[in-house]
Amino acid sequence: MASAGALFAVLAVLAHSLALPLPPGGMDTTLADHKRAVEYLSHYFLYNSKAGEHGFEEKLAEMQRYFRLTVTGHLNVDTMAMMKKPRCGMPDVADFTVFPGRPKWTTTSLTYRITNYTPDLPVTTVRQIIQRAFDVWAEVTPLSFRRVNSRNADIVIQFASGSHGDGLPFDGQGNVLAHAYAPGPGIGGDAHFDEDEKWTTTQLGTNLFLVAAHEFGHSLGLSHSEDPSALMYPFYAYVRTNNYHLPRDDVRGIQSLYGRRW
Ligand code: ZN
Repeated sequence: MASAGALFAVLAVLAHSLALPLPPGGMDTTLADHKRAVEYLSHYFLYNSKAGEHGFEEKLAEMQRYFRLTVTGHLNVDTMAMMKKPRCGMPDVADFTVFPGRPKWTTTSLTYRITNYTPDLPVTTVRQIIQRAFDVWAEVTPLSFRRVNSRNADIVIQFASGSHGDGLPFDGQGNVLAHAYAPGPGIGGDAHFDEDEKWTTTQLGTNLFLVAAHEFGHSLGLSHSEDPSALMYPFYAYVRTNNYHLPRDDVRGIQSLYGRRW
């Protein structure tokens, strides 16, 4: 069931085709900021720009609450800074930690295929990182993950720049780093990484292990968390990756779908 991905694609198209409401007055915001905010709220918070200025303020307040900013309903420097941070491309609108309908895998032995490799890192390094990123989820659930070359793999992983065939083009370096689809057949579970990022194993550039572990949370059925210490928080933040274990919030989320390890 890849309905979540399809929905986001439709919303992204809508966001670009609808007229923008007038910018809510505010000396410190420009028209460009306002346009960016409309696109951001449309994509990540399911804002419908037909809702006009009042709807915009409500959505902006929702976004500010979600990210624990001062809730004003108006664009300001802090809010704009949040909208420009490097992040995951999946939406934040969610009172739930799982996707609508609770899609999940019905088998515990999952397979994945890496269709291509980033030139930023050696192939063996990418393979190790991807397996480790799955293993943080396997550690606390009955799930296991095995790399295969078969086209029938449950989770397909690719690196791509710009448009890559799913209606959700990447955006060049920064901002959106990756996205992934909720469990299901076809594109369901697949994870895509923006090749325009500089993928690394360190705190320089974008750490592939941390982003992959986050995206695989989506591949397994978790949506974003409002908890800033959670792996499923939508923004990228470097933490030490040696001996990494899932934060508590993510353990609770994934075990709500698959139960504990035996
Ligand atoms: Zn995400």
